[in-house]
Amino acid sequence: MSLQPDTLKSLVRAAAEQVIANAAELTALDQAIGDGDHGANMKRGFEAVLGKLDAIGAQSLDEALKTIGKTLVMTVGGASGPLYGSFFMAAGDALGRSKKLPDDLAEVFGSGVGAVSARGRSQPGEKTMLDVLVPVLETLKAEAGRPDLIERVRSTASEAVARTVPMQATKGRASYLGARSIGHVDPGARSSCVLLHAVCNTLEARQ
Ligand code: ADP
Ligand code: MG
Repeated sequence: MSLQPDTLKSLVRAAAEQVIANAAELTALDQAIGDGDHGANMKRGFEAVLGKLDAIGAQSLDEALKTIGKTLVMTVGGASGPLYGSFFMAAGDALGRSKKLPDDLAEVFGSGVGAVSARGRSQPGEKTMLDVLVPVLETLKAEAGRPDLIERVRSTASEAVARTVPMQATKGRASYLGARSIGHVDPGARSSCVLLHAVCNTLEARQ
């Protein structure tokens, strides 16, 4: 993907602004099955990312991803900070290892997903952000090159969030609730969807 110089900044700005705009919803979701800090955690992290927007926009995409990852690790906190941080740092590392976009998009995204899984010792089906990230990875693998890939990623993410409702959490704070975690959207799945939708909407508007 030959990103226009201002496209990287637009993508990062949109992702951060959407997380911030949806912070109250993320908090409400985490109040139901966690400790109610996911919105505040993500807002703090993405405000820090926004504060570095000019520097990030001047970097190559792989370096920008790593800067975002490090910033999130330092500022988000909770379980989700190291997990999102790992995602972006691993994706940046993969891209730096001579991977090219869009051809290697699934591989780069997959490196991020693999890092979340390794760090969280988690798999899909455990009611976490992986329940959005893994289905999106599968869509990227299966449907690469399709003209409607952006729309397919967006709908995959939305449908995957809904599928976390009947799941019982077996990782993270929500797992302390046992069967009482059933019947709620997972906050991290929802924040992953917010981020993915922001990226999809921005790329689509620039096509
Ligand atoms: P905390 O649970 O420490 O309060 P947050 O509220 O910011 O942190 O983030 C909670 C989200 O993190 C969950 O909704 C879930 O999606 C994700 N999460 C928690 N533990 C794991 C894990 N082991 N693997 C993947 N994702 C996880
Ligand atoms: Mg929490």
